[in-house]
Amino acid sequence: MQLTVRPDSMAIVREIAALRELVRSWRRQDLTIGLVPTMGCLHRGHLSLVAASRKICARTIATIYVNPIQFGPTEDFAAYPRQEDTDLKLLAQEGCDAVFLPSDAEMFPAGFEVPTQFPSLVTVRGMTEVMCGAHREGHFDGMLTEVAKTFLIAQPDYAFFGEKDFQQLRVVEQMVSDLSFPLTVVGVPTVRESDGLALSSRNQYLSPRERQIAPLLHRTISAVAADLANARGSVEEALSTGIRKLEEGRFAKVDYLVAMDRTNLRPLTEPGRPGRVAAAAWLGRARLIDNIRIPL
Ligand code: AMP
Repeated sequence: MQLTVRPDSMAIVREIAALRELVRSWRRQDLTIGLVPTMGCLHRGHLSLVAASRKICARTIATIYVNPIQFGPTEDFAAYPRQEDTDLKLLAQEGCDAVFLPSDAEMFPAGFEVPTQFPSLVTVRGMTEVMCGAHREGHFDGMLTEVAKTFLIAQPDYAFFGEKDFQQLRVVEQMVSDLSFPLTVVGVPTVRESDGLALSSRNQYLSPRERQIAPLLHRTISAVAADLANARGSVEEALSTGIRKLEEGRFAKVDYLVAMDRTNLRPLTEPGRPGRVAAAAWLGRARLIDNIRIPL
């Protein structure tokens, strides 16, 4: 069993059995454990989740794993940016106690071809069929299955997810509630650049020119959210104005722009109601997503 404890005392764990052993030793000491699942290529958004965990947990485990079963066949699994050394330094600086970086062979020893090599699946119905779920077939099943597996390995008391991926946060909350996972999911506010662009590992895909256009996504959903809060026109009018703005602003394709209920993610039918506005749109080869609370 391999467990490297670095001089700065952050444990680097690559094997499931080693993480279980570390967690068992912390549990024996009655230490509260926080988990921060990530796909690496870390930025200040990820680090804010670690900081949130350190506030309420005695020990924080971050995971770095580009989960193959949540990517569709035409998506960017192979191209997804990976920078392990830099990530480890950032996590050590942030005071993380352990990092779990399993290989594909460790997580999926028989292979990760779904369903032939890996037939198990965790599904949350309904709220995964809209928004990103309608455009990324199998994404939420793959994400939930891997998150459930990681929960069972790390057995955290708290798990931290960014509001940036709001549908993911809600779907994980639902799974935890429905299946009685013994942990609390904590949502952490989105960290943004000064021009409003939500930090994302995929922002690296943007050319300098696309990077200049990108903050329009946040500006647009903010404007739609303000229109809905002030009940200026119908929901349909607010959304179609937003889509037009994105298209005129050179976003290649808008996958969706929706106003939704915070809990069940169903579309809002009337303005002046609480909820969130969310969008996904393509800029070059980057698919950017963002969402914001309707300010009521
Ligand atoms: P990822 O590595 O993209 O899978 O993200 C790992 C976690 O970090 C997820 O819970 C994301 O929602 C969260 N996250 C990503 N970007 C941000 C951001 N800009 N602000 C806050 N959390 C974020």
